Amino acid sequence: MAKITSIEYFRVLPRWLFVKVASEDGQYGWGESTLEGHTEAIEGSLDELIGRFVGYEADDIEHIWQTAWRLGFYRGGAVFMSAISGIDIALWDLKARKLKVPLYSLLGGKVRSRVAVYAWIGGDRPSDVEEQAKQRKAQGFTTVKMNATGDLGWLDSPSALQSSVERLKAVKAVGLDAGLDFHGRIHKPMAKQLAKLLEPHQPLFIEEPLLSEHPEAIKHFSQQTTIPIALGERLYHRWDIKQFLEASSIDILQPDISHCGGVSEIRRIAAMCEAYDVGLAPHCPLGPIALAASIQVALSTPNFVIQEMSLGIHYNKMTPPGAGTYDLNNYVKDTTVFEVNEGYVKVPTGVGIGIEVDEAEVRRVSKDCKAWRCLEFHGPDGAVREW
Ligand SMILES: [Mg+2]
Repeated sequence: MAKITSIEYFRVLPRWLFVKVASEDGQYGWGESTLEGHTEAIEGSLDELIGRFVGYEADDIEHIWQTAWRLGFYRGGAVFMSAISGIDIALWDLKARKLKVPLYSLLGGKVRSRVAVYAWIGGDRPSDVEEQAKQRKAQGFTTVKMNATGDLGWLDSPSALQSSVERLKAVKAVGLDAGLDFHGRIHKPMAKQLAKLLEPHQPLFIEEPLLSEHPEAIKHFSQQTTIPIALGERLYHRWDIKQFLEASSIDILQPDISHCGGVSEIRRIAAMCEAYDVGLAPHCPLGPIALAASIQVALSTPNFVIQEMSLGIHYNKMTPPGAGTYDLNNYVKDTTVFEVNEGYVKVPTGVGIGIEVDEAEVRRVSKDCKAWRCLEFHGPDGAVREW
């Protein structure tokens, strides 16, 4: 047993927040608390947790999780849960490193020999997807995800939807499967029309067909289409998720390990999903620590389906002028860990979450790193539209 001696966080480009936990026996682990566009809020929440948990036993991961959850009185939500996530992932990494085993070994061992992954194409105003799809195919991907539309009015012209169908057809013609992210930006009057138009072309799934705060509408939506319904990046713990499982309104759950309480909670969420015949496709347009931890979970989770990864995602290029592009491999020492072949990444051979973080680079970039801001979308009348 060894007590936690420090918990540090690092704001880094392009828009990530890493967490490092160290213990008195010289061990350490890395986590990720990235909550896109809300960096300062997470840092504040982490400050509070750091004040509480320095001095706790690093091995007592569940006790720390329960303490953060229950003794904060207020609980849940993107901010609190992303802060807990970073510490939880780091504690699991630390424990597995100390025991000199890969994390999946502590989670019951492997149930598969490689991990299916997908990457993004298209950006927030999707165009030229055919060329990007070809590039992804050449990189080794067999599946991609793209935004179904740009920003859209509450009730827009039906003609605004036709290009979504054409883009899906173009990507499928390249020989890739494609998930379509409605991004919560398409409201009910348009979403149901778009699903009907897309259905003959068999997208792999529709993501966030409507915002998660409309469970009754999502249930109704799911009964109108044969396309698998996926969501979950804006659900933060098992109590958020249970109503969707009980309503049988989703087919694929997409919890994000950096927002849903870390390794501990995503494992419990996965088991709940298994009991309702719902697959797990962890969300992760984030950094290398979140992805590495997700891969360890994927290896040990029976109802895992496919893992999102942010390699080349448009957000990774949104850095200040002159700062260059930061991507998954900027902060890891062995860049072969995230290599993709035939749509899969291989089982990492390293201990812990399977990557060695380049701490010197993290510290260098974090020195003068501005917080990333969410995008702003407005319609032609100036009214706010969903990002
Ligand atoms: Mg999404």
